[in-house]
Amino acid sequence: MSNTKYIFITGGVVSSIGKGIATASLGRLLRNRGFNVVPIKLDPYINVDAGTMNPYQHGEVFVTEDGAETDLDLGHYERFMDVNCSNKSSITAGKIYKKVIKKERNGEYLGGTVQVIPHITNEIKASILELTNSSSTHDPDIVIAEIGGTIGDIESLPFMEAIRQFKHDVGHENCMYIHVSFIPQIGPWCEIKTKPTQHSVIKLREIGISPDVLICRTEKSLSHEINNKLSLFCDVPTEAVIESKTVKTVYGIPITYERLGLGELITKRLNLPSKAPKNQNWIEIVEAIENPTQQIEIAAIGKYTENGDAYKSIVESCIHAGIPYKTKVRIQWIDSEKIDEMKNIPEFLSSYHALIVGPGFGKRGIEGKLSAIQHARINKLPFLGICLGMQCAVIEYAKNVCGISGATSEEIHPESSDKLIHYLPGQESLSHKGGSMRLGSYQTVIKPGTLAEKLYQSNIITDRHRHRYEVNHEYMEILSKNNLEISGTSPNGKLVEIIELKNHPYFIATQAHPEFKSRPNRPSPLFLGLVEAALKYKSVPVATI
Ligand code: GLN
Repeated sequence: MSNTKYIFITGGVVSSIGKGIATASLGRLLRNRGFNVVPIKLDPYINVDAGTMNPYQHGEVFVTEDGAETDLDLGHYERFMDVNCSNKSSITAGKIYKKVIKKERNGEYLGGTVQVIPHITNEIKASILELTNSSSTHDPDIVIAEIGGTIGDIESLPFMEAIRQFKHDVGHENCMYIHVSFIPQIGPWCEIKTKPTQHSVIKLREIGISPDVLICRTEKSLSHEINNKLSLFCDVPTEAVIESKTVKTVYGIPITYERLGLGELITKRLNLPSKAPKNQNWIEIVEAIENPTQQIEIAAIGKYTENGDAYKSIVESCIHAGIPYKTKVRIQWIDSEKIDEMKNIPEFLSSYHALIVGPGFGKRGIEGKLSAIQHARINKLPFLGICLGMQCAVIEYAKNVCGISGATSEEIHPESSDKLIHYLPGQESLSHKGGSMRLGSYQTVIKPGTLAEKLYQSNIITDRHRHRYEVNHEYMEILSKNNLEISGTSPNGKLVEIIELKNHPYFIATQAHPEFKSRPNRPSPLFLGLVEAALKYKSVPVATI
């Protein structure tokens, strides 16, 4: 029998209160205390995974080592806890229903009526227990399960019921419930209001869950009086009412939780050994982020710039890369369509220290991206291309240096005869969208003597992928002859993984998504290199292109 403990995190009052960050921070706090923690996100939506969800609505699609397309909260978990999640850590209502319906079709329910309780709830519980028993998670001390959505949502009910039942299966002493709530302030005196939290706890109790801890998201400090009121009405001890004020950097939250006694409270409640927290490394990371000595500004071109979370991992990777240089890295996101219409891209880019052209799908904004890359190439502006950004860099080079005027990608012009980027064979048909890309971690062999080798300090690396198209093999020779260095390929030499330019201080692009592996304590080499180059970059006169 395993000794694993379970912590369930639910959210109340409103969405977007930072439940994912709260879960990730708890994970860091427990990791600092030496526990083996495995996170899981239970999302009540019917999509099988986040892969088909629009980043405008739902933010970034995060990709795990094993190629699962998941909710962006898994990115928070990985960055804070410094663990690699697998597809087992990403459960959706869609996945659960798919399994149950498959079993029903196979006759596994022996003629019984298949119902939400017990069939769906059992499957939810089984997916949580699977983490405990899986060999890849190495017998975790603690599983932290975040339930997506807000208490009161119709679709989250089966998940709430499953976690309620869970305590009977594993014992009350082995699981606890933490409710993250929002404490608004209203009126001319910004009066703090506890009523919405009281109501969300009432809703939880209706389902049969009594929270052990309340994490209260607030702009203002909570007085003793408010704390006592929350404790009384929500039936949690005063020391379990945790004030979580908006902070300068979210990476500071695990330290705040520890200071407020949450580490002791959880270990006592779950009867875990009380180990002293080893916080020093994390404190140093937070200090470096909070007290930068210099600042750089990066222009980043993307398609989903209106949702601040659509490129979450890229933003975080830049913050991580600034840590060793004590540099605040600011990113200015530019809508790729706006850059298409921009009259004077060189003038616009002249105020930035570096350029990132990010991932994306479809043809919109391609011309603008090509012009921006051309400017960076000619004017020696440090440049990092990611996935579609690399494909654009190859097209720009083919057009403007190799003289292939019609250079394009199959994704943009399927009929063209100069498809520098073409459909990567061996995948499922394009009409099937979900999970049909080249996904997850793949090896790249890096050529000796290249910038990529210097950055990665290795000749074999792995990074995560999410793409359908690749550089067309037929053009590799002409690109190389014209001095585009193909510095990384797949182990069989067939797929172009990294390209770079020799006569440029920092011009590098990758077919992969290095942002998914960046951690505050281990920034991605390509982002570190970009920040270093940006710091060295001197504004050069804008050349005529
Ligand atoms: N749309 C491109 C492809 O599928 C790039 C994908 C991406 O940037 N993630 O290959």
